[in-house]
Amino acid sequence: MKSLSMCWLNGQLMHAEHAFIPVNDHGLLYGDGVFEGIRFYRRRAFRLQRHLQRLQLSARAIALEIPLSSDELTTVIERLIEAFADDDGYIRLMVTRGAGPLGLNPKSCAQPNVIAIADQLTMIDIGQQQAGARLIVSSVRRLPADGLDPRIKSLNYLNHILAKIEANHAGADEAILLNAQGRVAEGTADNVFIVRNGRLLTPPCSEGALEGITRELVLQLALDHGIEIREQPLGVYDLYAADECFLTGTGAELIPVASIDCRSLPSCPGPVFQSLQQAFRRTIDQECGGIL
Ligand code: PMP
Repeated sequence: MKSLSMCWLNGQLMHAEHAFIPVNDHGLLYGDGVFEGIRFYRRRAFRLQRHLQRLQLSARAIALEIPLSSDELTTVIERLIEAFADDDGYIRLMVTRGAGPLGLNPKSCAQPNVIAIADQLTMIDIGQQQAGARLIVSSVRRLPADGLDPRIKSLNYLNHILAKIEANHAGADEAILLNAQGRVAEGTADNVFIVRNGRLLTPPCSEGALEGITRELVLQLALDHGIEIREQPLGVYDLYAADECFLTGTGAELIPVASIDCRSLPSCPGPVFQSLQQAFRRTIDQECGGIL
């Protein structure tokens, strides 16, 4: 499906190809800014308030004042969705430090730029999603919280991009990043879950993961379905020895994993994944309306 990418830029709605920001924006020069990825279904943004909350927290953590309130940002997102060609899509909402002289001091940037782009996003080829994603464990480590806290959703994704490049070179679909201690942190743009003996396990965010909104929902859905959940540190062996593994994210939604470092998992898509996937779709139906 071809859809024209739309953009809201500092108060103006336009086709994304006509939207420009200055080359001296510190978002471009230094990765100085924050963002959210938001999906919409049936022209309704899914869990928008959670995304806006997280955006505000990321901005506060980097001492960036967003020039719009959450209510104003809600209106921006609604207008953008209205202007988009398709009923379903993905929005990248960004707040950059804004234009300023060279030199990384944010003090010199007077006005943040607020940008929201609506488009389609497929993280992993649809056929491969159905067959199950092939993962590698990357040699690139997730940055520790005393370097850059993983809970800050900043514009700088370079260590995730390096992990993705490694996955590309290995012919895999996605990479898992470990933390500095060699335990599982997360995927390049998704959280990781495994199932062992009917129990759902995921690393706590203190292991180096973003506090994923989809992760939070999946944990809640599992609880609602009487699936035992545990947030616990996981090693690479735990991935290899899992009964099931899957990824969660706004862009990813829920993706079952077929193999990790060429070790095939016994069940893909597994029964726990399938019931959570159905519950996830039902939640979208309930909150965004319509039948998917
Ligand atoms: N980890 C990282 C690094 C991400 O970029 C994302 C995508 N936002 C996620 C996890 C999943 O988070 P969410 O479910 O909130 O999209």
